[in-house]
Amino acid sequence: MSDNCESGCSSDCSTCGQDDETRKLKNSLSRIQNKILVLSGKGGVGKSTVAVNLALALSLTGKKVGLLDVDFHGPSIPKMMGIEDARPESTGHSLLPVEVGNIKVMSAGLLVDSRDDAIIWRGPMKAGVIQQFLADVEWGDLDYLIIDAPPGTGDEPLSVCQLIPNATGAIVVTTPQAVAASDVSRSISFCEKLNLKVLGIVENMSGFACPKCGEVTDIFSSGAGAMLAEKYKIKLLGKIPIDPVVCRGGDDGKPFVHHYAETASAKAFESVVAQILTLTQAPAFIGIRRIAVATQDNTISQHLGQASTFVVFDTVDGQIVTSRVEQITDGAHADLAGFLADRHVNVLICGEIDTATQAAL
Ligand code: ADP
Repeated sequence: MSDNCESGCSSDCSTCGQDDETRKLKNSLSRIQNKILVLSGKGGVGKSTVAVNLALALSLTGKKVGLLDVDFHGPSIPKMMGIEDARPESTGHSLLPVEVGNIKVMSAGLLVDSRDDAIIWRGPMKAGVIQQFLADVEWGDLDYLIIDAPPGTGDEPLSVCQLIPNATGAIVVTTPQAVAASDVSRSISFCEKLNLKVLGIVENMSGFACPKCGEVTDIFSSGAGAMLAEKYKIKLLGKIPIDPVVCRGGDDGKPFVHHYAETASAKAFESVVAQILTLTQAPAFIGIRRIAVATQDNTISQHLGQASTFVVFDTVDGQIVTSRVEQITDGAHADLAGFLADRHVNVLICGEIDTATQAAL
């Protein structure tokens, strides 16, 4: 695809005002249907494990998947994918991601000389590298780009959100202990401030799966995921037990969701993946008709431009199967057609629609 602007110019453009880098970024992102961040309030809770296994599980359903590791200070994706010694090839003006099966992987860990080298970059430099990872890596056409961000709410997830203003959403990974809840609350508040939809919470290390009989026993206090889901009205996508095969799979570069597919942990993860597919896939593909009702003060908005929320219903054979409320941010008002398209809405119910939006719809 050309990096030219719509007016056909190839260098910094006075017509569209975009520089080459911005155009490259937009072009690259426009070919990626779903961009999903995996976040956690703190380290060691299994965020990278979730990112890797989600990428692999999605690819096993036939999706074209990319996995981007922006955890510069602890890049664990290369090890978990079994590609520590691989290096991305350069074409001169772009980088080819390392391919594992049909997953395209990029990580700063693939660029350092030695796997034990520390990466010491300040915030602006990290932002520049993330922009290059998004714009200058040959991702091609992808159904999903899974982005493994470092723990917390620092420079890297902020840069990702700024560079991908229409990201599909975030998955927040937590452990079940109540003490984890305030870390997660910060991650959720971060998403709210950046208008990034939280697709749901994954509660990892949730009970212990006995390697002999597979029975799951709660060994810590539990329920942080359910409590947070209830508090913030977001989905608890699944609970993954502590399971030696999850850890072994990570250490050996053999993601458990595939290499230990019969375990309780892999089965639990399947439900996470199924829900991510439902939340992100074009509904027509899975037999769902998605209806958005533009509302204001709890009634149908007289004019689409004045609506403050969409109430979105998923229906199958005329029956409502799920409903949710989507806030319309000021930014979204500038491009409501795009907002609805990003959410795969088939039917819109509202009062008047201005002609420009009508044309875009
Ligand atoms: P984070 O990305 O949050 O820092 P990781 O995904 O790197 O966490 O996981 C930290 C360690 O815990 C890794 O060794 C990983 O294999 C292990 N681990 C993660 N989830 C589980 C689990 N459910 N059962 C057993 N070990 C796990």
